[in-house]
Amino acid sequence: MGRKKLIAGNWKLNPADANATLDLLRQLKARLAPFTKTQMAVMPPFTALHLAVEVLKSSRVAVGAQDLFWEDNGAYTGEISAPMLKSAGCQYVVIGHSERRQYFGETDETVHRKIAAALKHGLTPIICVGETLSEREAGVMKEVVREQVAQALRGMDEKEIRRIVIAYEPVWAIGTGKTATPTQAQEMHRFIRDLLAEMHNLALADSVLILYGGSVKADNAADLLGQGDIDGALVGGASLQAASFAEIVKAAELIA
Ligand code: PEP
Repeated sequence: MGRKKLIAGNWKLNPADANATLDLLRQLKARLAPFTKTQMAVMPPFTALHLAVEVLKSSRVAVGAQDLFWEDNGAYTGEISAPMLKSAGCQYVVIGHSERRQYFGETDETVHRKIAAALKHGLTPIICVGETLSEREAGVMKEVVREQVAQALRGMDEKEIRRIVIAYEPVWAIGTGKTATPTQAQEMHRFIRDLLAEMHNLALADSVLILYGGSVKADNAADLLGQGDIDGALVGGASLQAASFAEIVKAAELIA
């Protein structure tokens, strides 16, 4: 299959202080230096992207953003575009994180537009999907995820889909300390991969990285990453400590 694991750190709105940001970047650079088999990335806030690219330039750690706007430029006060991220040195961009869907009105339609913009400018979109607690309790999680994936990738061809990463992040597991069990996560990852096969073909489905996100920590990473269809992790809280992020990468490295 040959899918190389990816561990990506979503820093969200952290750290608030420039010195702490520099410190975290330097520590990450040092602690992640020994790892050679796993793909690694950090997603700091926009204002720290240049610094992150500068500090991490001679390392294997890529830099990504947490969002983007679909227009390249124009009268859109406060927005950041794909060409801006590309020229800042970003490789990845997170799209449709549940916090953006929940607090900032992100919809499947805006997610779709943002993915198209990212692909157009050579960024790798990490597309977040996942059900809420009430949707899981109602037993409709697969329908919810099916719709999110189908809408996000609507009209995209095989070549484009090969360049995307999907992150399955059950909303009830994000920042809550609750993690999907490895079996629950694997079941949904398999479902997403089967969906890609149904939408396109098996070879394509087998090539797409599907990350798990939701309270991934050093002590649960190995069990999750050991599942056949879990190709890495999108890590929030635990990515803000270089030591815990490095432990998660180490778990991936031992499985690779
Ligand atoms: C996330 O922000 O994508 C996430 C998974 O957060 P946490 O690891 O803190 O649950």
